[in-house]
Amino acid sequence: MQKKVDTIIIGAGMSGLAAGIRLSMYNKKVLIIEKHTITGGLNSYYARGKRKFDVGLHALTNFVGPSERGKPFNKLLKQLRIPYEEFKIHPQNYSMIQFPEKSLKFTNEIEYFIEEISRQFPAEIDGFMSLINHIKNFNEVDLSNETVMAKDVVANFIKNKSLIEMIFCPLLIYGSAWENDMDFSQFVIMFKSIFLEGFGRPEGGVRTIIDLLLKRLEVCGGEIQFKSEITRIITNNGKVTAVEINGKDIIECDSILSSMGLPETMSVVDQDLEYSPRVGNLSFTESILITDKKPRDLGIDATIIFYNNRPEYHYLKPQTLFDSESAVVCFPNNFLHDDFDEGVLRVTNIANFDLWNQELLLSRESYQEKKLDVYNQSLAILKKCGMSSEFSVNFKDIFTPTTIKRYTNHFGGTVYGSIDKSRNGSTPISGLYICGTDQGFLGIVGSMLSGISMANLHVLQGSL
Ligand SMILES: Cc1cc2nc3c(=O)[nH]c(=O)nc-3n(C[C@H](O)[C@H](O)[C@H](O)COP(=O)(O)OP(=O)(O)OC[C@H]3O[C@@H](n4cnc5c(N)ncnc54)[C@H](O)[C@@H]3O)c2cc1C
Repeated sequence: MQKKVDTIIIGAGMSGLAAGIRLSMYNKKVLIIEKHTITGGLNSYYARGKRKFDVGLHALTNFVGPSERGKPFNKLLKQLRIPYEEFKIHPQNYSMIQFPEKSLKFTNEIEYFIEEISRQFPAEIDGFMSLINHIKNFNEVDLSNETVMAKDVVANFIKNKSLIEMIFCPLLIYGSAWENDMDFSQFVIMFKSIFLEGFGRPEGGVRTIIDLLLKRLEVCGGEIQFKSEITRIITNNGKVTAVEINGKDIIECDSILSSMGLPETMSVVDQDLEYSPRVGNLSFTESILITDKKPRDLGIDATIIFYNNRPEYHYLKPQTLFDSESAVVCFPNNFLHDDFDEGVLRVTNIANFDLWNQELLLSRESYQEKKLDVYNQSLAILKKCGMSSEFSVNFKDIFTPTTIKRYTNHFGGTVYGSIDKSRNGSTPISGLYICGTDQGFLGIVGSMLSGISMANLHVLQGSL
């Protein structure tokens, strides 16, 4: 007899795991289908020798204390029934937006950022305060919000172009599938999660989050099937009936929550549809350096530096393999708790998937050489961020957009998915819903919230 479950969840990344927990809590028979052998998706970890590395965690956004009920992070924990203390989360020291002419620091207290802006852009402080007010009163998660470009809205409050670019820089690189601008609702999500709430890191990094989610999933009775790729979504009269796995096995289901991406999901539906969501353009390279000295011993006490060496911030697919004129530089030792024995430095650049893919097809050797260029540029960027060069590198690893493609299956190696989001999770197929990146809540906290809210909205309706 063919296997049958209530809901199939595609992908054991953050959104899939959170959705799986939520549905199993309400006694739904749920099966998470994961292509790879491990959980976490974009937000995972790997080992090299005795060292373990996080992939997609620089910082957890939305940092708040346990008493701030109603804030996204605490809502998330409440929905998943995970106690705050178990996340063992510690705040950042401070972060910095470094442009050629000016630098702005911010902490998890918005007052610090306000003070910085009033000191460096005194003519703009009233506008900035009005913008904060507007943001605080805006309901960014209302699924019926119309798409409005954020730079147009912000220009009503702030006139200085350079300040606008500086404010947008961290918000774009930490959560926009669109080039150089974003939808205003997404801008508000990012502004609140980074400037009004802030950055934190769990002790033990991403493993702490994944272990907590897996433990909860097990307690609730949810299951994961690894090494299983969804190769077809089977429909009948415009409604899902089953999935095909690895080109052969069939599992029947009433509904599907897919975190594999909107274009990627639609590409495996067994029906011809006049609906082709666009593939996004943004992907990254990242250099990870393990050093004999910690950043503080090398003159850096910032947790994250958003480095940009041009008057404007170019958040777009570069014409070259990667853009060395801007980067996110993360120093995980510089959260208030440091659980590393060595220095850890991570330099992320915006990159061009097509060019890396061509390079890989051309020759493995030249691909490796180009990776070395990324590494050498990351050393130059660290220097430009003010770090002393008096250190030795104990270990280094570099990943490229083709690595991201291999591990996530995202077309074009995109990190933030398609530019066409499905904000309410619906697709033209009844019973097929999108969660995670292409529903539009991005990042670690965002993707978990997406899994929960799509499970609540589309599957648990009536059971809550
Ligand atoms: C370098 C980097 C740094 C980042 N830093 C941060 C950060 O500091 N803070 C932050 O909040 N976010 C960060 N992110 C983003 C964050 O990791 C992602 O937004 C989040 O993990 C997305 O989760 P998801 O569940 O939507 O999707 P994914 O993690 O992409 O999960 C999708 C899963 O589906 C599986 N899958 C795909 N296709 C199939 C198929 N056909 N069949 C079965 N399974 C399939 C994939 O293997 C994957 O496990 C970073 C990302 C990167 C790449």
